[in-house]
Amino acid sequence: MSKPTLGIIGGGQLGSMLATAAKRLEIKTVVFSDDMDAPAQKFSDEFIFGKYDDQNKIDKLVSKTDVITFEFENIPYETLNQINKIKPVLPKPSINRIIQHRLAEKDFINKLNIRTTRYASVKNKSEMDTVQDLLPGLLKTVTLGYDGKGQHLINSIEDINELDIDFSRGYILEKLVKLKKEISIIITRFSDKKYEIYEPIENVHEDQILKNSRIPADINDKILKQSRLWAMKLTEELKYVGTLCVEFFIDRNENLYVNEIAPRVHNSGHLTINAYNISQFENHVRAVCGLEQIKLNKISNAKMINLIGSQINVYRNKQFNSNEFFFDYLKKEIKHKRKMGHLTTLF
Ligand code: ADP
Ligand code: MG
Repeated sequence: MSKPTLGIIGGGQLGSMLATAAKRLEIKTVVFSDDMDAPAQKFSDEFIFGKYDDQNKIDKLVSKTDVITFEFENIPYETLNQINKIKPVLPKPSINRIIQHRLAEKDFINKLNIRTTRYASVKNKSEMDTVQDLLPGLLKTVTLGYDGKGQHLINSIEDINELDIDFSRGYILEKLVKLKKEISIIITRFSDKKYEIYEPIENVHEDQILKNSRIPADINDKILKQSRLWAMKLTEELKYVGTLCVEFFIDRNENLYVNEIAPRVHNSGHLTINAYNISQFENHVRAVCGLEQIKLNKISNAKMINLIGSQINVYRNKQFNSNEFFFDYLKKEIKHKRKMGHLTTLF
């Protein structure tokens, strides 16, 4: 059987790493992005530039590919759904629709008796009065947030008056968790009860952006088991195909909460490229393209640091040791808070 051609919607570093993994498996890729300078075009076989609702470009993508996936969750549902009527979109668009909406996502998780922080929908300023028991809390836009964008810390009700918030966008207020640490689990589901699961990764955020990740995570056995169980349950319930990430909080009393789910490969899983026999990217390509599932094998402990903004500059001219792996995302411009590259160190 000839191998399928894979369409990837979104052209950032996750798209680049998916395309690189596909190439190694001799799978052709077509990247579709609304950014003319999308770095993933340097790693894919073909590139389509266009808006995500441009019918001609969508048709072009569909005609050139056999199966389509995405590297970020904020793609219009209509686009994914429309493509899915002609060629399979994996993971399924209906999954994306739940997860790209913070309220729908948290309702879904809680229905499975999996703990999240307490939350409420806030439709206008006066509703803030009724949810004061969730303060201090984070007010987040229900859609389109990433790397902490669209989030406001609210300590007391007075803070609201000082912020210029357009409530028509739809907000969720989440009670602030007194964090001890954050972990994530990357899991790839191939079909019913068939998955490969990576060990929990310990993550440190700065200004709500991931700063570094490491394995092994320093967590107790109960949290280890609970987080794995919850990750498997979420993935199975969604009948997910591909790689998914579950982000967790651990509070100061050692309680575990699911923070959010990313229906895609994830920044905290970059270290899987060097620390495992099969990376999260390769596993995603294997699952969505229907290739063989291979048992995961850990090669080494690892830590990864994100190189944000101008931090990349020193690394571009650096000599590395044999246990260090530098990735430059080859983005056209260095911008404040932009993820420019990462360094993984095995130990
Ligand atoms: P994003 O979609 O931007 O990744 P998250 O909800 O994951 O949004 O928030 C980013 C980071 O902000 C989290 O990893 C965590 O460090 C912090 N954060 C978000 N929500 C809470 C919360 N309810 N309590 C404590 N910290 C939080
Ligand atoms: Mg997050």
